[in-house]
Amino acid sequence: MKIYISGDYFDKENAKVSVFDHGFLYGDGIFEGMRSYNGKVFRLRDHLDRLWESAKSILLTIPISAEAMENAVNETLQINGITNGYIRLIVTRGVGTLGLDAHLCQHPQVIIIADHLALYPKEFYEKGLEIITASTVRINPAMLNPQIKSMNYLNNILAKIEGHQAGCAEVLMLNSKGEVAECSGDNIFIFKQNQLHTPSPDAGILEGITRRVVLELAAELGLNIKECPMTRHDIYTAEECFLTGSAAELIPVVKLDGRIIGNGKPGSITKKLLELFRSKTTV
Ligand code: PMP
Repeated sequence: MKIYISGDYFDKENAKVSVFDHGFLYGDGIFEGMRSYNGKVFRLRDHLDRLWESAKSILLTIPISAEAMENAVNETLQINGITNGYIRLIVTRGVGTLGLDAHLCQHPQVIIIADHLALYPKEFYEKGLEIITASTVRINPAMLNPQIKSMNYLNNILAKIEGHQAGCAEVLMLNSKGEVAECSGDNIFIFKQNQLHTPSPDAGILEGITRRVVLELAAELGLNIKECPMTRHDIYTAEECFLTGSAAELIPVVKLDGRIIGNGKPGSITKKLLELFRSKTTV
């Protein structure tokens, strides 16, 4: 495996960053997680736009152009011979001192890792996921906006640990108002009474690229779409529920907090949207 670090490629064992990099010291940096299908990165431009927005929000200057980044991502895939895989793109604040001063970090580092996919097991797509609500609340946007895909994922990790301890592969996170936000690494949708609902970005979520694609597909299908505040009651009483993410694509949820959703099986709208989604990734 060859890993790109700021213009050079290193073997996995030698792909190292300094312990003084503020990405390591403070989680000061940003990232993207993307998927490639048949050698092409899905919605690469959207991911780069989100990366640049995250950078702008934290006053981080990405040291290369978007075009150079696009080339570097594609080259990393090619060098590693990966056609259907996962790409992690990271921009760290760079080496600084032990203090918090970001302005002392003069050289942000760009890291690109292309790897094979670690997917949810196939049976979860067939039978659906059982999830619980984490007691860890999604970080309030007034503190650190979840729209910034920052290298500090402790909020999500703590929620995910709760899920693991309960035997669940994913967990629902609420916002500080007690509304549904998203899962630890996926966005959430429900289908009820002919409407597709998902929390709007105001709920304090990462606005997923897959979420956006699903909203486009739902519009193509002529579904009524509602981006609005949601509570757990809405999920408990939904006909269908599914999660979206670059790695997961669309994955059905059949149980939340012990309540069976719909008839306890992946729903027909979920299946239709997944089928349509997959048809878009193969072109
Ligand atoms: N929410 C969170 C917290 C995430 O980390 C992710 C990405 N893993 C998503 C949602 C889904 O985003 P995307 O569809 O862009 O992968």
